[in-house]
Amino acid sequence: MTAAAQVLGLDRASDHLAVRWLGIDIGGTTTDVVAIASDGEVLASGQAATRPGAGLVPGTLEAIAALDVELDALVGVGIGVPGQVDRETGTVRLAVNLGLGAAPVPLAREVKDVLGARVVLENDVRAAALGAHRVLAPEAEVLVFVGLGTGVAAGVVIDGRPHRGAHGLAGEIGHVVIDPDGEPCGCGAQGCLETVISGSAVRRRWGVEVAAAGHALVAAAAAGDTRAQGILDDVVAHLDLMVQWLAHTYGADVIVLGGGLGRLGDPLLVPLRHRLRERAGRSDVAARVVGPERVWCAPAEIPLGAVGAAAVADAPIRPIEGAAIRLARRPEGRDGLPASIKT
Ligand SMILES: [Zn+2]
Repeated sequence: MTAAAQVLGLDRASDHLAVRWLGIDIGGTTTDVVAIASDGEVLASGQAATRPGAGLVPGTLEAIAALDVELDALVGVGIGVPGQVDRETGTVRLAVNLGLGAAPVPLAREVKDVLGARVVLENDVRAAALGAHRVLAPEAEVLVFVGLGTGVAAGVVIDGRPHRGAHGLAGEIGHVVIDPDGEPCGCGAQGCLETVISGSAVRRRWGVEVAAAGHALVAAAAAGDTRAQGILDDVVAHLDLMVQWLAHTYGADVIVLGGGLGRLGDPLLVPLRHRLRERAGRSDVAARVVGPERVWCAPAEIPLGAVGAAAVADAPIRPIEGAAIRLARRPEGRDGLPASIKT
């Protein structure tokens, strides 16, 4: 049993419940899948390696098959996927990490042809935002989830629904220019936010080729590497700015930092909250709009993207009771997850 399944309730006896929804989160390297019952109980969860390019659809079907659950009662499938998602046609394109170019891939239709249930696509960060809302803070009026991975993007949930904006690009903050003289960005502009605070930016600026750049940077800083500490400080300073923009622009109740960097927990959250707290002490506006207790790191054990994808397909999702209160407190563990909901 995975830790995620335990956290979400798989440890309860539930053999009698049928799988009604699947939630799938296709990431650059791994694909998370959850199976949900009619009452919102998570019956199974699993993970498989993502297969890029032409392997995308067969890889997704393999990830579902690996769950080894009966799908006779399936009514809906939600898939969160990076790239440009067309919800009407159920296609995705322009996902560099998945090896998808300009040609739309009919992901929804091909999965529907095999499973025979309704399949809905959503942008991966937006799906994760919906997952964070349902699992961690269903009472939040406005929740913003920021995926700090290879790139940077925000997903916004307003009144329980994903906010897409007029062009379907709401929350694409990674390419907001924060330094006109900054580093060149893959998008063609210069000094975009994601040239400073993404996982790939950390790797490039630090010049050390490691898989988990964030964790390695934090470890080096803790060991006294002043250059690593400088990069970490700069990341936190820019996260501070980003949190303020998001809180002021969207009127967010809660901002959740996710993705590889976001899950670092304490090393990001403690100095970030310190900055927010200091400013709140000087400014009544800051105290009201961006309280430090409103900024959380996503619990690493919970596949928020997959759960949120199931919610996109209208699956009811059970919240973790008290999660909001516990995450609002000062982080206690490596990943900011209170011990009581760790497994
Ligand atoms: Zn850019």
